[in-house]
Amino acid sequence: MPNVTVIRNARTVVAYDEGTGGHAYMQDADVAFDETGFVHVGGHYEGPFTTEISGHDRMVLPGFVNVHCHSGEEPISKSFFEDQGTAALWGQAMYEYSTLIEIGDDAVKAALTVMLGDLLRSGVTTFVDIAGPHECWLPTLAESGARAYVAPGFREAQWHVEDSHRLDFRWDSVRGREAFARALETVDAAQAHPSGRLGGIVAPAQVETCSPELLQEAAEAARSRKVPITIHAAQTMAEHEELLRRHGLTAVHYLEKLGVLGPDLILGHCIFIDSHGWTRQRTADDLGRLAASGTSVAHCPVTFARSGMILQSVGRYRRSGVNVALGTDSYPFNMLEEMRTALINARIATGTVFDVSTADILDVATLAGAKALGRSDIGRIAKGAKADFSLVDLKHPGMQPVYDSLRNLLHCAAERAVAAVYVDGACVMENDRPTRVDYDGALAELQAVQDFAVRHFQANDPRGRSAAALAPLSLPVLPHP
Ligand SMILES: [Zn+2]
Repeated sequence: MPNVTVIRNARTVVAYDEGTGGHAYMQDADVAFDETGFVHVGGHYEGPFTTEISGHDRMVLPGFVNVHCHSGEEPISKSFFEDQGTAALWGQAMYEYSTLIEIGDDAVKAALTVMLGDLLRSGVTTFVDIAGPHECWLPTLAESGARAYVAPGFREAQWHVEDSHRLDFRWDSVRGREAFARALETVDAAQAHPSGRLGGIVAPAQVETCSPELLQEAAEAARSRKVPITIHAAQTMAEHEELLRRHGLTAVHYLEKLGVLGPDLILGHCIFIDSHGWTRQRTADDLGRLAASGTSVAHCPVTFARSGMILQSVGRYRRSGVNVALGTDSYPFNMLEEMRTALINARIATGTVFDVSTADILDVATLAGAKALGRSDIGRIAKGAKADFSLVDLKHPGMQPVYDSLRNLLHCAAERAVAAVYVDGACVMENDRPTRVDYDGALAELQAVQDFAVRHFQANDPRGRSAAALAPLSLPVLPHP
């Protein structure tokens, strides 16, 4: 007999409506599921079950699909460079500063565990992790119970910032090709993983750090395997200027010429396209190129907003027919915070409340992410779909008083009201902690790992600056009176 769990009389279910292809509220409904998926969404469930959960004061919400995040060193990067940037590179801090952060092989598991714990705590059930491959990657992800795609990054050029003002590229094609081969092995291992919850994505790291030949070969490798491709593209003005210098094209136009655009491609960030105010192009064709090819965008607003950069805008991209999905990129790995920022940024970018709605942003965080990954069985609560969902506590102070549950969650309570998260019908997060991996143990390890990184700043900085000069504290430190 299958192990059916029934959520009885859920006050609110965000259910998938086949008729509209979107989400809709269902009130006082029963939801039944087992490890294969949802078996019932609707009125009273009459079938057999082994476990019953009260849905009183609960909203059943589809699991979020995060199409872009990085484990690696990102979980220890917090609090270094939020107030820094390279003026000559349009204020972007990534090229000069993030490359200074070093994490040892022994610490990658703890960093990964903290990231995936944070994602689960904010209602994510599926995520794409773009990072360097390591031994603990697949085992830790599988152990967590989450649904995950590994996207092992590779590139032929390393960034180098000369004198804090010029971005150079140091090419090493042999090393890049070796990393490409290793990445494909990892992708194949993930696809074949017995858990059935892991997948692989081919990930040339950045559009400007791979040769055109490698980008095309990577796309071929992905397409012959029927797995998605992801590339950071149109993510910074420095990259935009570099591609103009090399090819006379925007990133999107360049990838179109290479034959890389397509419904299996997810472009990381895709902010600085020809219609963005900063790029000052004479054309506004990139959105049409993305829409016509079915290419998806991984929108990660928080990291960029921190540097004063904004996509123009989620509503405009969607109205142009572009599939905009959501990612958390670097820290914080908080999907609900990302959703709220996506909504607010879109309204600021266009100067109108009408650019996107709360429902649009839920769509971006669920169905659009599923579509980007080529799946119609996740990001929705419907009979036959995977049982990936959250239970939201409607009695949480941040959710009170309740008129519209989704608005309260997005605009007020955020992850604080996420009471439990299920993947494949199993509880993987409860009481603000992942149930299957040692989140607190991993957190305790990270301080020493961050201290190690700080000690190595000076040696990693081409200008030999001290940690205090590179990452001054936000406040001065006073001596005791
Ligand atoms: Zn990224």
